Amino acid sequence: TYEMQKFMQIRLKYKNDLYTALDKRQLNVRYQPIIDLATGRIVKAEALLRWNHPEDGWISPALFIPIAEECGLINAIGDLVFKEAVCLARRCRDFPLQISVNVSPRQFVSKTIYETWTTYLHENEVPARRMILEITEGTLLDNRPDITKKIFQFLHAGMEIAIDDFGTGYSAMGYLKKFNINYIKVDQSFVNDMVKDSKDLAITEAIIVMASKLGIKVVAEGIETSEQRDLLMAAGCDYGQGYLFHRPLLGEEIESLLKIEKSSQCYS
Ligand code: C2E
Ligand code: MG
Ligand code: MG
Repeated sequence: TYEMQKFMQIRLKYKNDLYTALDKRQLNVRYQPIIDLATGRIVKAEALLRWNHPEDGWISPALFIPIAEECGLINAIGDLVFKEAVCLARRCRDFPLQISVNVSPRQFVSKTIYETWTTYLHENEVPARRMILEITEGTLLDNRPDITKKIFQFLHAGMEIAIDDFGTGYSAMGYLKKFNINYIKVDQSFVNDMVKDSKDLAITEAIIVMASKLGIKVVAEGIETSEQRDLLMAAGCDYGQGYLFHRPLLGEEIESLLKIEKSSQCYS
C-alpha cells in the first residue's frame, strides 16, 4: 500500500542519515532523574538518546533505535551512550548517583562490549556499581548463551540490572530465579491511567509485593500526577520517574540539581 511504501522510504532515509548523525555529533544524551519516593531526592538518572536531525528536528528514539538495531549501528551508538553516561557519573562522583543506560539485545551479541565498557569505567575511575543496565524481558527470554554470559559478567563486575517496561512482554518470571535482578521498572502503561481501585493499580501492587519478596526494588515510569505518585507510594513503590518530577535534562542540569539538593540538605 501507499502508506507501507512511505514508511519504508522514511526508514531507508533515516538509515542513511544515521551514519552521518554519528559522525556529525547529532546524537545527544539526556538524563531523566529517578527519585527515591520516600525522601524525594534524585538517586539515579536514566540516559535517553536524542537525535537532532538537520532537516526534521528532534527524532524519537522509539523511531530510530529499531533502525539502528537493524543495520548494526546500535553497537556504536550504544558505546557512545555508555561513554557519555560514564563521564556524567565521573562528574557527579561526590553525589550518590547511579546512571542507567538502555541496552538492546543486539548489543550483548557484540564480542567486545564487556571489555570496552569495563575499560571506559576503569579509565574514568568510575566504580561499576554506579551503572545500571536496563534490559527488556525479551533479552533474557532469548536464552542465548552468549547474551547470558555477558549479563553475568556485568553483574559479576558490580553493575546492576533493571528490567525495563516490566509487564508488557512475556513476563515469563523464570529469569527472575536465574539472574540476580536489582530493579523492575513498571511500564508507564500501568501508571498512565492509575486511579484508586483500578486494575492498573492492582497489577502494580502485585508486582511490588512479588518484587519485595524477591529482594528486588521497583521503579515506576511515567509518573505525571501527584495522585499517581501517592498511590504508588502507598503501594510501597521504591522509586519514581516522570514529568511530575523532571523531564530528561542535560548532564549539567543534573549536576546543578544535585548541588542544590545537597546544599538544602546542609541547611535543613
Ligand atoms: P524507556 O527506556 O522505557 O524510557 C522511558 C521513556 O518514557 C522515555 O522516552 C522518556 O522520555 C519517557 N517518559 C519519561 N517520563 C515520562 C512521563 O511522565 N510521561 C510520558 N508520557 N513519557 C515519559 P524516550 O526518551 O522517547 O525513549 C523511548 C524509548 O527509546 C526508551 O524507553 C528506550 O526503550 C529507547 N531508548 C532511549 N534511549 C536509548 C538508548 O540509548 N539505547 C537503547 N537501546 N534504547 C534507547
Ligand atoms: Mg529505559
Ligand atoms: Mg521503560
